[in-house]
This record gives sequence, C-alpha cells and structure tokens, in this order.
Amino acid sequence: MKKLIGIAILALLGFMLLAVVTDEDIMAYRGHYLFENGKHYITTDEGKFHLLLAPPAALDTLGINLVSGDSLYVEAPKAKGSLYVKTLVYKDEWYAIRIADGMYKGYDELSTYNVNPKSCIGCRLCVMNCPTDAITMVKGKAVIDQAECVSCGICVSGNDKNFKGCPTRAISKE
Ligand code: SF4
Ligand code: SF4
Repeated sequence: MKKLIGIAILALLGFMLLAVVTDEDIMAYRGHYLFENGKHYITTDEGKFHLLLAPPAALDTLGINLVSGDSLYVEAPKAKGSLYVKTLVYKDEWYAIRIADGMYKGYDELSTYNVNPKSCIGCRLCVMNCPTDAITMVKGKAVIDQAECVSCGICVSGNDKNFKGCPTRAISKE
C-alpha cells in the first residue's frame, strides 16, 4: 500500500512539474508583423523572431489578413529559434492558432504527409520550402518529421512564390 501511495505522489509531482515547464515555455511577444521571403516574423524590442504560423491562405480562412507592419501580440513557446504560435491577438481579436502540437486551426489537421522514397529524386526542393523545417534528407531521400509538420501542404501543392510542389509527386497526403 505504501508503495502505491509513493507511486501516486511521484506521478502527481511529475504532472505538476510538467505543467510548470509547459507554462514557463509559453512566452508573450508584442511587436510588428513582417512577411519576408514567404515566412512570418515578429519584430519586437528584443529582436526579430520567426513565427511558425499558418501560411496566408490558411489564415484567410480564420479571417486573419496580416500585412507587414501590423501590430501583433502572440503567445508561443520558442524552439529552434522559432516561435510556435499558440495564441495571436490581431485587431483586438484573440485567435487560438494551434489546437495541439503540430496542428494549426484552419488546416486539414487530420492529414499527414509522407514521402514515397521510390519517387524521390533527392532534389531538396521540399526541404528548402517547408516552412517548419520538417523535412530532412536521409540517404538522399526526403523524410518528413511528423512532429514538426503542420500539414500546410506546401511540399505537395507549392507556395505562392516560385515553388510548385514536389516535381515528381513523391509526397502525398493521407
Ligand atoms: S521535392 Fe520531391 S523529389 Fe525533391 S527531395 Fe522532396 S520529395 Fe524528393
Ligand atoms: S506539409 Fe510539407 S511543407 Fe508543410 S509542414 Fe508538412 S512537410 Fe513541411
């Protein structure tokens, strides 16, 4: 019985620690929005940060039409130098952007994207254009890290710049 109580106390402490770490990870940033080279940024007094945020087309579906220079407030954990935006305040409206890790509201968040290695010719175009750096090359083939992929579809359909999606259609949505 004592052993069980001990385990329960340890589990409770673990949950409390996790909650503290998670809360501390999320910071608030206030500044101005910047769209540059197909990527979102916020410029604040502490510097310029890359925002992991849905692309403009997906933001449109939420009614968010950000223009460079707009005042912006975001709440996000920072990882790999980028801000994983969870909450965004734009024109006095609050938006919950991420509904779970790796998922953005307004996206087809139930989809996963995978590479067929047989069709991949190793051109690296998807690597260079993935907004979350979710794709790496392993033995000459593209591999998608599902934890980093936000299901934006850019690797399949391209972006609104000069990338038209995987040239060999090696990436598919499931
Ligand atoms: S764009 Fe397509 S062919 Fe090129 S590396 Fe990525 S998956 Fe492979
Ligand atoms: S769908 Fe493709 S481009 Fe978009 S985050 Fe996932 S791997 Fe990157």
